[in-house]
Amino acid sequence: MSGREREADALWRRLAGLEREVAGLREAERTLRESERKYRQIADHSGDCLWTMDLGTLRFTYVSPSVTKIYGSTPEETMAQSAHEVLPPRSLEIVTRRLEDEMALEAAGTADPRRTATLEIEEYRKDGSLIWIENVLSFLRDGEGRATAILGVSRDVSEQRRLREELRTLATTDPLTGAFNRRHFVGELRREMMRSDRYATPFSLVMLDIDRFKAVNDRLGHEIGDRALKGVVDLIQQRIRASDLLARWGGEEFMILLGNTTLPQAMALAGDLLERLKSEPLPGIGLLTASFGVTQYQGHEGIDALLTRVDNLMYRAKREGRARVAHDPAPAGEPAASPARETAGGTE
Ligand code: GH3
Ligand code: MG
Ligand code: MG
Repeated sequence: MSGREREADALWRRLAGLEREVAGLREAERTLRESERKYRQIADHSGDCLWTMDLGTLRFTYVSPSVTKIYGSTPEETMAQSAHEVLPPRSLEIVTRRLEDEMALEAAGTADPRRTATLEIEEYRKDGSLIWIENVLSFLRDGEGRATAILGVSRDVSEQRRLREELRTLATTDPLTGAFNRRHFVGELRREMMRSDRYATPFSLVMLDIDRFKAVNDRLGHEIGDRALKGVVDLIQQRIRASDLLARWGGEEFMILLGNTTLPQAMALAGDLLERLKSEPLPGIGLLTASFGVTQYQGHEGIDALLTRVDNLMYRAKREGRARVAHDPAPAGEPAASPARETAGGTE
């Protein structure tokens, strides 16, 4: 082979090598595009909204098309927004606090870099209405493992929350009156007893049974009787505190748990309820009365002893003539005189 021929051969070989390299690069690019297309399809077709946010600017860098189904806005519209435009203040506070915690973990360098955080918060839709969103968040990292962006998967959980709430209501309340049911009340009572034993805070129980209710049914019919029960519950709810608990104990029997309340205070409340029943006619029904038992938790006693005591007191009020309040003897040193005591007709 001449010198020129050798040169040509070498050139030819380099060229062939370059062509192989280019073909290899094309193949790699095709694979990359294919995989990007695949991931884009996953993002585009997911019912969840996938997004990324730059940690430096806290601006969206990608928002998947399903954002429109959930929020009503296009990806472009969402990307133009900042966090406080999509989040009401209380949600923004939750997110900010969590992000600060996560950044502190990052700085400490001890946390799992692949960890996720789940935040269920309220967010604005385009029309200004609020929806509940579950966000599963993780960090995207650069070659050195530094967190540079947030990857978020957002799902509308408003319907789940509504169903959960509905189930909770069904499980804990009496459908006729809306008062709590007996099972829920007993659970709360046990909790209150533990709290009281632990922190030495007083609490009291009021039990009431509507007087001669059978006569209401007989006179006006069962349906009006039902309305009367609802009316009694409304009247009690208006008078007690939000932290007090009213339950329908049985047919026309009710129980009230009064947190942080001593016997004289509970007696005053029962007396007031009786006065209202006697003076505020229920529409279409007229005046009703009830017999009340009132007791204060004695501390470190069993739930059966407590419930039996208040039940016995209520029956004592019935025996002594109805439309009155029967209670434990007032504890020593407590003022015994109270409106409730007067309504009991001086029978104590
Ligand atoms: P008192 O308590 O004063 O002794 O007399 P009462 O007539 O209220 O007592 P009793 O326990 O004998 O009767 C309770 C009545 O309550 C019987 C029942 O028809 C009625 N009642 C119980 N549950 C319901 C209900 O859900 N709806 C209606 N309308 N009535 C009910
Ligand atoms: Mg009754
Ligand atoms: Mg009864």
